[in-house]
Amino acid sequence: MDYQLLAELLFPQITDTPADVEARYPARQLPEGAKVTRFAPSPTGFVHFGGLFPSTVGERLAHQSSGVFYLRIEDTDAKREVEGAAEGLIKTLAKYGISFDEGAVLDAEGNIADRGDYGPYKQSKRGPIYRTYAKKLVAEGKAYPCFTTEEELDELQAVNKKEEIKNTDWQAQAESRRAEMLERRNFTLEEVKDHLAKGHPFVVRLLANGDPDKKVRITDLVKGNLEIPENDEDFVLLKSDGIPTYHFAHAVDDHLMGTTHVIRGEEWLPSLPKHIQLFGYLGFKLPKYMHIAQIMKLDEDGNKKKLSKRDMGANMDDYTSMGYCPEAVCEYIMTLLNSNYEEWHAQNPDKPYTDFPFSIKKMSVSGCLFDFGKLNDVSKNVISRMSASEVTQKVTDWALEFDPEFGKLLASDAAYAESIFAIGRGGKKPRKDLATWADAKPYMGFFYDGLFAPEYCYPENVSDVEAILDGFAKVYSADDDSTAWFEKVKELGLSLGYCADMKAYKNDPSAWKGSVADVSMVLRVAVTGKQNAPDLCEVMKILGTERVLERLEKGKVRK
Ligand code: GLU
Repeated sequence: MDYQLLAELLFPQITDTPADVEARYPARQLPEGAKVTRFAPSPTGFVHFGGLFPSTVGERLAHQSSGVFYLRIEDTDAKREVEGAAEGLIKTLAKYGISFDEGAVLDAEGNIADRGDYGPYKQSKRGPIYRTYAKKLVAEGKAYPCFTTEEELDELQAVNKKEEIKNTDWQAQAESRRAEMLERRNFTLEEVKDHLAKGHPFVVRLLANGDPDKKVRITDLVKGNLEIPENDEDFVLLKSDGIPTYHFAHAVDDHLMGTTHVIRGEEWLPSLPKHIQLFGYLGFKLPKYMHIAQIMKLDEDGNKKKLSKRDMGANMDDYTSMGYCPEAVCEYIMTLLNSNYEEWHAQNPDKPYTDFPFSIKKMSVSGCLFDFGKLNDVSKNVISRMSASEVTQKVTDWALEFDPEFGKLLASDAAYAESIFAIGRGGKKPRKDLATWADAKPYMGFFYDGLFAPEYCYPENVSDVEAILDGFAKVYSADDDSTAWFEKVKELGLSLGYCADMKAYKNDPSAWKGSVADVSMVLRVAVTGKQNAPDLCEVMKILGTERVLERLEKGKVRK
C-alpha cells in the first residue's frame, strides 16, 4: 500500500506538515523545574466539586514552580455542548482562586477569547492541526481510514466509552475486538477512492501494534509505579467530521502546548496504554501523569460511593447559594488534597493557603471523602479569623442576593450589624458560630425585633423565672462592664437561693435551688429567646436598656 498516496487522498486540503505546526509552537522558555499544567474541561454545565480538585492541583503546582497554568476548552463533542457553560466555568473557577495565566479567557464583552501564544485553546478551533498529524500518521502507515456510517460510529463510540470506564480486564476487551479490527484493516486504495468519490464519511483509526501480553512500566506521580498492557486496539483518532477524539487531542495539544504534568481524573487511567502508544507514534515526549482519585461520599448506609452530579455538594454554584465563602472551600480542598495541610495551618494560622508548600507525595492515592461536617469546621475557623466589618459586608452581600429581606435589614444599619458580629471576635479564641453566611440569621436574628421569636425554654429546675427577670430588671445598668454585670447576676441568684460558685454548687447541689448558671440561662432565654447565644453582657449592651427591660418583662410569660 502506498501510504503517502493514501494520506493525500484523505487529506488533500492539508498542506502543512507537522514541522510547520511545530514551528508555531516553540518550546517554552521557563526556569528549571517549572511545571506547565492545564485544566481541560469539557464544559457541559456546572463546575463539579470533583473538577475543582484537579484544577486546584494544577494551579498550585504551576504557580508554586513559577510555571504556567492554562485553560483548554475540550469542546470536541458538539452534541454535548451547552451554551454559555465555558463562560460560567471561568467565572466560577475564578471565585475559587483558580486563575489561569494563559488559555481561554473572558474578554471585555464576556465572550471566550484566547490569551497566550499556544492557542487556539478551544479544541473546536484546532481542526487543521489535528488533521495535519493524522495525515502524517496515515502517511507512515500508523493510522488508516475506516468508512462507516455516522450511526454505526455512534454505536461504536458508546460501547467503547462505557467499556473503557468500567473495564479493568484489559485483555478480555482486546480479544473480542481483534477479529473485527483485522477486518477493518483490510482494504485497497481503489476501495478508498471509490468511497471518497461517493462522499462516504470516514474515521481515522490508529493501527495498533501493541501486544497486550506485554506490559509497559510507567510511573504515575499519584498512583505510583504501574504496569499496564500495551495497546492493541485500533481506536479512533479523528471522527468523521474531522474532529479528534479525546485521546488524539490530548496527545497533540499537550505536546504542542508544552504541558509537563497531565493532571486528570483516574477514570482516564484505563486509556493510558492508548496515550503511550500515540505519543510514541507521534514522536512526542510523554508528559508526567497524575491521575487523581475520585471524590467519594458516604451514603445513608455508610458505604462509600462516588460524589455524583446530583449529590448535594457537587455543584459549585450551590456553595454560593448555601453561603459558603470560597476561602473556606479552598482550605477544605487543601485538607483533602494534602494530609499535612491542617498541621501546617495550625502552625501558620495567619498565612493564606497559597503559602502552603503543596506536595504531590502527600496526595491520597485511593480517594478523598467529601464531608460537610469537616467543611463546616474549616469554614467556622476561616470566618472566625475575619474582621467584624468583613463579615458584616459578606453576610450583607450574600443576604441581599439570597435572603433580600434580611439583607435589607442588615444594610439599613451596617454599624449595628457590625457591632453584633464584633462579639467575641479578634481575641485568641474567637467565637466559631458561623459556617456559612446563611447561619447568620439564626445566630443573630434576635437582635432585630422583627426576627425575635423566643421559645422561652427555661431550665426545668428553675421555678423563679419571674423573680429572676424582675430582680435583674431592677439592677441592670448598661454602664456595667462584664465583671460588674456578672456580680449582679451572682448577687441576684444568691438572694434567691442559687449558688454563685460553681465548684461549691457541684460539691453539694442539694443545698441550693440551682446555680448562677441557671440564673444566667433564664436571663439569656428571656433576652435572646434561645439557650445558645453570644456573651450576654455584650448582647444587652447592643440591644440597649429599653429593649432589654422590655424583653425581661415579656419573658415572664412561660410558654
Ligand atoms: N476533557 C477531559 C475531561 O473533562 C479532560 C481530561 C484531561 O484533563 O486530560 O475529563
